[in-house]
Amino acid sequence: MDPLRDSKSTEEPEIEITADVPGIPPSDLVEKMVYDALVWSSLHGLVVGDKRVQNSGTVPGVGLVHAPFSLLPVSFPKSYWRQASELAPIFNELVDRVSLDGTFLQDSLSRTKMVDAFTGRLLDIHSKMLEINKTEDIRLGLHRSDYMLDGETKLLLQIEFNTISSSFPGLSCLVSELHRNLLNHYGKDLGLDSKRVPGNTAVSRFAEALAKAWNEYNNSSALVMFVVQSEECNMYDQHWLCAVLKEIYPFAMDFFFLYLDGKTVAVVYFRAGYSPNDYPSEAEWEARLLIEKSSAIKCPSISYHLVGTKKIQQELSKPNVLERFLDNADDIAKLRRCFAGLWSLDDLDAMKTAMEKPDLFVIKPQREGGGNNIYGDSVRETLISLQQEGSEEHSAYILMQRIFPTASLAFLVREGLWLQDNAISELGIYGAYLRSNDKVIMNDQCGYLMRTKVSSSNEGGVAAGFAVLDSIYLT
Ligand code: ADP
Ligand code: MG
Ligand code: MG
Repeated sequence: MDPLRDSKSTEEPEIEITADVPGIPPSDLVEKMVYDALVWSSLHGLVVGDKRVQNSGTVPGVGLVHAPFSLLPVSFPKSYWRQASELAPIFNELVDRVSLDGTFLQDSLSRTKMVDAFTGRLLDIHSKMLEINKTEDIRLGLHRSDYMLDGETKLLLQIEFNTISSSFPGLSCLVSELHRNLLNHYGKDLGLDSKRVPGNTAVSRFAEALAKAWNEYNNSSALVMFVVQSEECNMYDQHWLCAVLKEIYPFAMDFFFLYLDGKTVAVVYFRAGYSPNDYPSEAEWEARLLIEKSSAIKCPSISYHLVGTKKIQQELSKPNVLERFLDNADDIAKLRRCFAGLWSLDDLDAMKTAMEKPDLFVIKPQREGGGNNIYGDSVRETLISLQQEGSEEHSAYILMQRIFPTASLAFLVREGLWLQDNAISELGIYGAYLRSNDKVIMNDQCGYLMRTKVSSSNEGGVAAGFAVLDSIYLT
């Protein structure tokens, strides 16, 4: 078998590749680079479970395939990179402040609750905590704020803010390393410099935050518990974090779903619990409630989880709402600059415009994990049917301005095959926040995740199969 030949895409190239455009390799070089990249990924753990292989989502080491990646880092202007990085601590602080306002969370989501049973159950847990006056003295957030660079307005606009199960702190670091490695070898041929790929510290900084939270709990025999899905093809991303954590702190770890083993749990890190599928029975809801009631540090707490909903994102974009939570006018202005247009579905003017120009909007339910949004003609159809129903059903969704990043040529590598296509990218900035009463122990930008997808695709998740992992090349 000639792996070089086999790794060639069977699809006809849509775009002519020329050898003399800087940064764009001629096809024989692409073949070589893809081969090297596949070897590097396999040797360095840039891998995911292969859905086609049985047990690949449950047994580590069984059925691995390289994570989908872009062959070269995507060009990204330094000024926007700085802007996105600067926003991380401000958003962290905002999340913490909003999380303390139980009334704001309950009120903002009260109508969503009536039509969205999943969000309703989360709110019920939150209400119970309010009833018993539960306070979280130590608060840990491992967040990722996602952005796209809008081509027309040249604005960096936020797609969403993730407060639960922010994925790929492990694999994103590896993709940055992969790209640096490829540019060290092939950079001269391409006219690219590996030093312009910023180092990515996501995995070590997230591990540091978990370790510091554990330390703050102050019980040397207590555990850090990772709550994971029973089948998870992205388990290696989680194992990377777990492995780095074990390296820096020699404490006990449990990697089972709600397995306590008679020991105190200091920190509960959720990489599950964000989707209705994670609660197949009452037992999972009871477990979530039990954890919330406990003295363990939750990452995220139910309040932090709710702050990350799309509905709260939309409420925070309304006039004078940020001012309720933050004092610094500069910070508020910085946040507002990255807000895209966001509306609730009872905004009749916005609804009318969206029905006339559905391509300029996205409808989003209160869900995580990719694949849930509504685009294009379906926007109009959905809005019409929601209006006809005349019920509260529309409160399950928000309406958002669609962002259109400028497309550029990318080489997307998936399951050993590559294809070249016009692609757009979404930048995620990781942020960690740790607070113990009045003391802010950590509030930092912690690295990045770039995801790239063919420009014709609406959705963007890597795990959901739409995008590939990428890194950035600062220009
Ligand atoms: P999830 O929590 O499921 O990841 P997102 O809000 O991130 O939900 O939406 C999923 C994907 O849909 C994003 O990664 C992005 O590719 C695309 N998307 C979301 N909002 C917009 C938008 N306003 N404009 C363009 N694309 C969007
Ligand atoms: Mg999300
Ligand atoms: Mg997202």
